[in-house]
Amino acid sequence: MLFWWTGQLGFAIIKNKILYETGGEGSMEHCYESEHYVFHYEAGSKAEQDMRFIAANQETCYRHITSMLGVSKEEKIHYYLYPTPEAVGQECQRRFGEYTPFNGCTASENEILAVYNQNIQCIGIHEDTHILMFTLGFSKSSFLEEGIACAMDALWWGIDNAAWVAYYRKNKMCPSVSELLLLSREAFYAVEDHIAYPLAGAFTSYLLMRFGKGLFRQYYLLETYNATSDTVFGCSLREIETDFFSYINLLTYDESVLSRISELLEQI
Ligand SMILES: [Zn+2]
Repeated sequence: MLFWWTGQLGFAIIKNKILYETGGEGSMEHCYESEHYVFHYEAGSKAEQDMRFIAANQETCYRHITSMLGVSKEEKIHYYLYPTPEAVGQECQRRFGEYTPFNGCTASENEILAVYNQNIQCIGIHEDTHILMFTLGFSKSSFLEEGIACAMDALWWGIDNAAWVAYYRKNKMCPSVSELLLLSREAFYAVEDHIAYPLAGAFTSYLLMRFGKGLFRQYYLLETYNATSDTVFGCSLREIETDFFSYINLLTYDESVLSRISELLEQI
């Protein structure tokens, strides 16, 4: 989640820092293979202890992504499971020349680095969605790239993406979808995660629900985006955005959900 592929081979991005890939495979000696994955782990680790659960969990993620988006991959996905964020940071330093501790990141077209210990289990559907979407090509929109992964997550901090958007709308904190979708990669990642990610996820879920995965995939791969002209959907992004927010306005969340969002934001 915290380390993003830029959409171009050879380099990756952390927030708005660009890191150039120097290559090299992970150094872990122990591995466990399932149908679509190779999991690398350290002997005696929590990951080793939970390996069958981890493999079953990720295979379920893979099946869900494939059935929802029609994407699959011949080559197996390599998961490197580290005991601490610092260990992930050291691996990033080895690969990219910069030490920054992370819980998880997509490190190449088929490699994920993730923390797995007693307190942090950074596995799930998000990074796997990035990897599987790479098989179609790279989107020019970071909003859509993160949006599809967040749509597959469905939740942000355990609460429905759309509930976050409803909360931001109610509190006049919600940015414009068309502005975020057209932002450069660096500008998009400069927007606060807890605002940009649930909004991107909720909007992308709306696109999938309204237009289906075929048209969404075409839109995802457009060379350029424009807010006001017709898109592959037959209407402009601005028109879709208006309809999306009208749809969000229809959702009446229990007050306890909105209060919980307030609490979570206060903890940042
Ligand atoms: Zn992501």
